[in-house]
Amino acid sequence: MIIVMQRQATDAQIDAVVAHIRAAGLREHVSRGAELVVIGAIGDENLLDAGHVEILPGVERATRVTKQYKIVARALHPAGSVVKVRGVPIGGEQIQVIAGPCSVETQAQMDEAAAGVAAAGCRLMRGGAFKPRTSPYAFQGLGVIGLEYFQRAAQRYKLPVVTELMDVRMLDTFMEYDVDVIQIGARNMQNFDLLKEVGRVNKPVILKRGLSATLSEWLMAAEYIAAGGNHSIIFCERGIRTFETAYRNVLDITAIPALKRETHLPVIVDPSHAAGKAWMVPALAQAAIAAGADGLLIEMHPNPCEAWCDADQALAPDELQALMRTLAAVAAAVGRTL
Ligand code: PEP
Ligand code: MN
Repeated sequence: MIIVMQRQATDAQIDAVVAHIRAAGLREHVSRGAELVVIGAIGDENLLDAGHVEILPGVERATRVTKQYKIVARALHPAGSVVKVRGVPIGGEQIQVIAGPCSVETQAQMDEAAAGVAAAGCRLMRGGAFKPRTSPYAFQGLGVIGLEYFQRAAQRYKLPVVTELMDVRMLDTFMEYDVDVIQIGARNMQNFDLLKEVGRVNKPVILKRGLSATLSEWLMAAEYIAAGGNHSIIFCERGIRTFETAYRNVLDITAIPALKRETHLPVIVDPSHAAGKAWMVPALAQAAIAAGADGLLIEMHPNPCEAWCDADQALAPDELQALMRTLAAVAAAVGRTL
C-alpha cells in the first residue's frame, strides 16, 4: 500500500502511521521527498484497510498496490479460460450466441422459440421464468412452471438453458430443473449473498454488469462467486446508464478489451438490453464480436409484436438467422469461428 502524507504532516503523525502499519504485521518504507513524505507498507495488504489508514491524522491518501480480485485475475490463467456448458465451449475460438425470448410465456411460444434458436445455428438458449421488472405491476415471469416449459422446449433441440436467478430461495429449484447456466441480472450484480450462494454450486454463471457498475466492482462481484469455489463465470456487458436517453443503455464496447485484459474468464455481450430496439441489435452485435467478445446474449421471440416483455428489442426468427450470417463474416475477420 502506498500512503501519501499531507504536506503539513508532522513527524508525530508519520510515526503514528508507521506504528499502525507495524501493528497490522507489515513493514514500512518511508521516503522523504522535498515536499511530500510517502510511506510504503510492505507485506500482506489484506491485513491493512486503506479506509482506516486514510482517516489517520496527516494522511492525504492510501492506495492499494495489489488488486482485490485474485481468482478471476488474468494473472491466474494468462492464456484465458474456457467455460464449458454441457460440452459447448464459451471463451475459446468459437463464438457462442445464446438466443431466446426475454421471458417464458407459454409452452407453444417456447417450442417455437427453441425451433428458431436451433434453426439459426445457436447452441444455447435463453429465457426468463423469473423477471426483474421495474414496475411491480408488470408481468413478473411465470415462475417454476416457466422452467418446465423452457426445459421441455429446449431438450427437443438439445439446447442448454440459460435463465435468471433472482432469489436465493429458488436455487434448489434451479438445481432440480437442471438449469445449465444461472444468469445473475444487472440488478443483482452486487447482491453479495446471492453471489456467495451461486459460488457454492457446480453450475456456470453469467454475471451481468450492474446498471452503472465500474469494471472493478464487476470483477469483485465475480470474485465473490469464485471465492466460494465456482470458477465457471462468464461476464456479460449489457450496456450502462449514462446521460444519453436515445437508447435504453450505452453499450460499453471499451469494456470488452479492458475486461479481457484484467480477467481470464470469458466476456460476452447482450446487445438487446443495450439497444432497447431490435433494429440496433445487429450493429451492436457485430461491433461486440469485432471488439473481441466471446459470445452474445440476444433476445429473439417467435412473434416480437406479441412478446409479454421487451417486445421492442426482440429479433424475429428470420432476423436472427440473417444476423448469424453476418456475424460469421465478422468472426472470420477477427480469427474466430461461429
Ligand atoms: C434479461 O436478460 O432478461 C435482463 C433482465 O437483463 P438485465 O439484467 O441485463 O437487465
Ligand atoms: Mn429482457
